[in-house]
This record gives sequence, C-alpha cells and structure tokens, in this order.
Amino acid sequence: MTSSPHYDALVVGARCAGSAAAIALARAGRRVLLVDRTAFPSDTLSTHVNFPSAVAEIDKLGALERVMACDPPKATHGMVQADGVRCLERFASVDGIDYGICVPRPHFDDALVRTAIDAGAELRERTSCERLVWAGGRVTGAVLRGPDGEEYAVSCSLLVGADGRRSSVARMVGSERPYRGSDNNRACAFFYMDDPQVGTVWRERLIQLRQGATHALIFPCPDDRVLCLFMGPREDIPAWRKDPMGMWERMLEENPAVRERLGGATNFTKLRSTAENPAFFRRSSGPGWCLAGDAGHFKDPIIGQGMRDAMRFGRLWGEAAAPVLDDPAALDAALRAVEERRDRECMATYHWGNRESRIFDVSPLHREVLAAWDGADPPRLLHMFDRIQSPHRVLNPLVGARFATRAMLRRGADRRAILREAVEELRIDAGIWREELFPRFRSTRQSRSERTDWQWPPRRPARAAGAAPAVAPAAVAVDPLDIGESVPAGAERVAA
Ligand SMILES: Cc1cc2nc3c(=O)[nH]c(=O)nc-3n(C[C@H](O)[C@H](O)[C@H](O)COP(=O)(O)OP(=O)(O)OC[C@H]3O[C@@H](n4cnc5c(N)ncnc54)[C@H](O)[C@@H]3O)c2cc1C
Repeated sequence: MTSSPHYDALVVGARCAGSAAAIALARAGRRVLLVDRTAFPSDTLSTHVNFPSAVAEIDKLGALERVMACDPPKATHGMVQADGVRCLERFASVDGIDYGICVPRPHFDDALVRTAIDAGAELRERTSCERLVWAGGRVTGAVLRGPDGEEYAVSCSLLVGADGRRSSVARMVGSERPYRGSDNNRACAFFYMDDPQVGTVWRERLIQLRQGATHALIFPCPDDRVLCLFMGPREDIPAWRKDPMGMWERMLEENPAVRERLGGATNFTKLRSTAENPAFFRRSSGPGWCLAGDAGHFKDPIIGQGMRDAMRFGRLWGEAAAPVLDDPAALDAALRAVEERRDRECMATYHWGNRESRIFDVSPLHREVLAAWDGADPPRLLHMFDRIQSPHRVLNPLVGARFATRAMLRRGADRRAILREAVEELRIDAGIWREELFPRFRSTRQSRSERTDWQWPPRRPARAAGAAPAVAPAAVAVDPLDIGESVPAGAERVAA
C-alpha cells in the first residue's frame, strides 16, 4: 500500500454536503482532498427542489451562477391545494433570493464540485473510502481505493463523512445506529416529462396537490421539462413499479388538479421510486471527524429541505473547523458546536417532515387553513418551506384553535372528528415546544411526531408478488436497497 501526503481535511462524498464543506475549507486556505466513488456529472435519487433559502445557500457557496447556467425556471410562487381549496403565495426574499429552482442532480452536483475545485480543493473521482486510520482515539486518516483498485492511505487532521444516508463513515466511526428517528410512511414515485404548460404561469410555481391519501408535487425543470412526484402510502409502491403508466392514469383520475396541470404530458422518463424514507439523527461529531448532510441527519423528503441543510451545515462545519484544524481539542469542540447548532435549527423541521409523512385524508381543518391563508402577504405556508419561521410557530396552538373552532362551526361539520384531530395536533406541538424550550443535546426521548415502531435497520417493505422493479436494471444501476445511489447522468431518459 502506498501513502500520499498529509491533508488538512479529507472529505468523503462530493455532493451537497461534501462540496460545501470542501469549498469552505479550501477558501480558508486549507489543503482539502475531496473524494467520491462516482464520477461527475452523476445522478442520485432525489427530486431536487430548492426553495429560496436553499438557493441562498448555493449563493453563499459561490455556485449559483454555475447552477443557473442550465437556465431553470425561477419559481416565484408556491402553492398547496387540497380538495380544490388553494393557497397560493409569493416567496419572500431570503438573503436577497426570492425564487426556487429544480435543477436535476447531474448538473447541480457537478456545479458544486467544480466550485470546490475552483476554491482549491483536490477532487478524486471513482475513489472510495475503505477504512479509517486511528491514532490515540482520533481519526487521523483513511485508506482509499482509487479507480484502478489500488489502495493507499491518506492522513488528515479532519475527516468529513458526507457520504449520504447509508454512510460507511458513520459505520466506521461507530455511529451508524441513529439515536432517534422515525420510520415514515409515505413513499416516493416520480417521473420527468415534457411540460404541457410551457409559457404559462404554472412554470413559476412549485406546487403540492393533495387529494385523498396521495400528495402530488410538481416542480418545473430546465429544458421545458417538469418533475411530478407522488407521495402516497408505501403499500402503493409495488403497483407503481408493476404498472407505472397505469398508476399515472389512476392519479389523473383521482386528482383532477393533477390532470389540469399535467394532462396531455408526453415524453416520460422511467419511474423512479423508493419506499424507504426513515428520518433520523446520528451522533455526528467526534475526535477528528464529523458527519455532514444525510450521513448525520435525514428528514422526510416530503418537505424538500435535505439539500439546503446538507449545503448549509457542510459549509458551517468547514468554516468552523478551518481556523482550528491544528488544535485537536479546539477542533473537536468546534465540530460539536456545529452539530448542536444543526440539531437546534433542524429539529422542528424534522418533526414537520414526520408529521407530513403521516397518511391522512384532507380534513376540514386543512381546508380552513389553506382558504384563510390564500394570497397571504407576507406568506405563511411558504415561510415554513423557507425556514423563516418554524411550522409550530406559524401554525401555533392559538392559530390552530381558531381554525378548529371555525371548522366546527360550519354547517354539517363532524365536530368530534375535528376535535380529535385538533387535540392530536396539539399533543404533537406540545412535544416540539418542549424540545425547543428545554433542548437536550442528542436526546433519545421520543416525541409524538415520531413513529413509535421505529427500528434500525429500517424494515424493508415486501415487494408484491410479480411486481417488477421500476427501473430497467440493464439501463440504470439502482441501489438494491432503493435509497438513492449514483446512476450515470442521463441514463434513464426514455420516450414514453
Ligand atoms: C426520494 C428523495 C427525494 C428527495 N427530494 C429532495 C428535494 O426535492 N429537495 C431536497 O432539498 N432534498 C431532497 N431529498 C434529500 C436530498 O437528496 C439529500 O438531503 C441530499 O442529497 C444530501 O446530500 P449529501 O451530500 O449529504 O449526500 P448524497 O447526495 O447522498 O451524496 C453522498 C455521496 O457520497 C458518495 N459516497 C458514498 N459512500 C462513499 C464512499 N465510501 N467513498 C466515497 N464516496 C462515497 C456517493 O457516491 C454520493 O455521491 C430527497 C431525498 C430522497 C431520497
């Protein structure tokens, strides 16, 4: 085994979290090695919507111009519609950015990686982290395997594991088992297609259409394409995989708003899907190491916040570590402080994701909230997506009680059902408020938004007899666990 010179930081995984950490460290003049087992541009399982607060993070990394080079539509509005009741709001400005985007990952991640290289990081593609090197209880390096299969050791002052939710760095530092989590219930099934609404206001809207148990989320993409994601019961996934276009027709039938937006769409990609979205927190820092992005914390994709947080805390870890890399005690304290900050900033959003991932039908309470907030200025719902205000503050118990009362006073209302729902929401809120008022670092105490049957490793949903995988195995290398691994860019674009 050969060895190579010392790096200030070795970053494993080069997408949102890894590139962000590398950019911050390299900008501070540190010597950074960024490795990924894939080669860019490369795809990964994600619906990649970025609300303005995420776009602002891209800007802070200095990658916005590159990301925008593919000319994505700028979404100035967000909309949630349930059972025909609509709430359309304009995004507020976050650090000067008032639009969202949905840029496919091959282009997006490549833009981040190129920005890291420009900042001075050294990139090694098709290179995986195989083992860690320890000395005196600290991580002091790693054994890497390069494209030719040769293994070599690299020494470093800091190792950043930014290698996604099935992080092998997490396993190697003994942090693989999350200390808390929730095995959420909604699955994801999505296609890209040609947008039948090119040239209309729909291209400026990120929308969520709720009807029955399944939510449809629709995000305009570059090149007149659009992404349509269905998040419904995970039990539907075998049917999606067996007959994607049959399920598409069923969705158009069941949800007239989807038909209005996307009816007549053509040129579909193959379906991409996952039934596994367990949300979790792992211990994310220790002597000489940290876990950035999904490696340390994952929340339900239904709220589209993962990329933003991966970039934000990747950058913050890099910025905090850069000045103290030569002082192990100060470095460990700085890493831990960022972990605490991440938990503080992400906890309420994590609970919101768990809450949204419950399977429920649209209720009178939902309709009441959406109708009242339609056109709100400043926006209410979009403040949650933009992290301007936490969900439990926007829809706080007082506001909730007002809407519940209003809903109960409507003629023909099922008052008992509304009261039951309001009480359950209040109980969830109580847990979130308690955590916010009395925070406990790495608390293992379960809260009511979390599913009590949580287990690790997550349960695998059974595949229905005869159900075929959604994506042709010959065309696309799909992770057997279906939780988002690299696929070659453009590998799955096919005509319907
Ligand atoms: C179905 C789905 C939909 C989603 N939709 C959205 C959305 O719309 N908006 C949003 O903001 N978030 C979304 N997310 C979440 C978002 O995709 C993630 O939060 C984000 O990709 C995390 O970035 P990351 O850099 O932490 O990890 P990843 O993007 O997972 O990148 C990890 C990288 O590490 C590399 N790697 C792994 N192991 C090794 C190793 N041993 N050696 C070297 N390299 C390694 C991998 O090749 C990969 O490139 C979604 C997630 C899912 C599953």
